[in-house]
Amino acid sequence: MRRLSLLCIVLLLLLTGCSVSEPCRRELMAMDTFMTLSVYAQSPAAGEALLEEAAGEIRRLEGLLSVTDPGSEIYQANHGGAVSLSEPVRELLEKALELCRETGGALDVTVYPAVRAWGFTTGEYRVPEEAELSALVERVGYGRVALDGDRLALPEGVELDLGSVGKGWTGDRLTALFREAGVSSAIMELGGNVQALGTKPDGSPWRVAVQAPGGGYAGVLEIVDKAVVTSGGYQRYFEQDGETYIHIIDPATGRPARTGLASVTIVADSGLQGDGLSTALFVMGREKAEAFWRGNPDFDFILLGEDGTAAITEGLEECFSLYGGWEGRPLEIIRK
Ligand code: ADP
Ligand code: MG
Repeated sequence: MRRLSLLCIVLLLLLTGCSVSEPCRRELMAMDTFMTLSVYAQSPAAGEALLEEAAGEIRRLEGLLSVTDPGSEIYQANHGGAVSLSEPVRELLEKALELCRETGGALDVTVYPAVRAWGFTTGEYRVPEEAELSALVERVGYGRVALDGDRLALPEGVELDLGSVGKGWTGDRLTALFREAGVSSAIMELGGNVQALGTKPDGSPWRVAVQAPGGGYAGVLEIVDKAVVTSGGYQRYFEQDGETYIHIIDPATGRPARTGLASVTIVADSGLQGDGLSTALFVMGREKAEAFWRGNPDFDFILLGEDGTAAITEGLEECFSLYGGWEGRPLEIIRK
């Protein structure tokens, strides 16, 4: 009997891959990216059940936000329908519009027609003509999205895409789910977004690597209860006639943002804020990003320049260090 129960325990560990001291882990492809969830739970069974619930929530949110699935609320709104938004989508859209306003439109959830024109939605890349771009920019403007309670009807030609904030918001929802279940230690990697709940089980901070634009790592961050979100020109791009075109679009021009930045990493309490601001500050470029931060200092950031320079805001002085090939380079501290 004892041998049988021992065998059961070993089998359970092999099957779930987790124990009280090891995290329960789940890997999945969703929202166009590779995700890993690691949760330290009371028991393997509790951990597995939570991961199952989390994976279900990711799929549900993916279905609600998809721009290509005819069943999604966003798709229906984009195709001329007046839609009653479900609570999570209404809440996300409201918060995303607030970020668009705060960033003066550097983040714009209606930039989709321009993103599509460059082929970033299908992978069939092309460089649009100037006339095509100026016509498309006419259709871009988050201010034209009117949300009346949960009712959303978009003006002719306006299309919504919450892709720039979807993963950050998903991180926030998973964090809430885990916290409500009594978890005090979890780490989620949702593509370029990392979100940490609490500390590691031994009480030490989580260590999160910051990618170097050319591959490998540029730095390491030590964080507790934070979201770390990176937007980089090297993540999705194409080359034509010696020019590089990246997937982050300046809503003012309809063209890929070129501000001399290789990447922007935001460290914030919320994944949604981190995600929206990483895109927005990339579009702004260094000078405007600094000015924005001085006016809204409830987050920190790391800028890696195309020229190989690195700068961080003062809140990260104690918890960030350059790493690998970047170790030993000057690290500028941006102060208020
Ligand atoms: P990723 O989702 O690739 O990690 P981001 O969070 O920076 O990167 O979001 C970029 C995506 O958001 C693009 O693929 C595009 O669909 C959309 N997008 C591009 N530029 C903007 C912008 N200025 N504002 C809002 N969304 C944008
Ligand atoms: Mg983003």
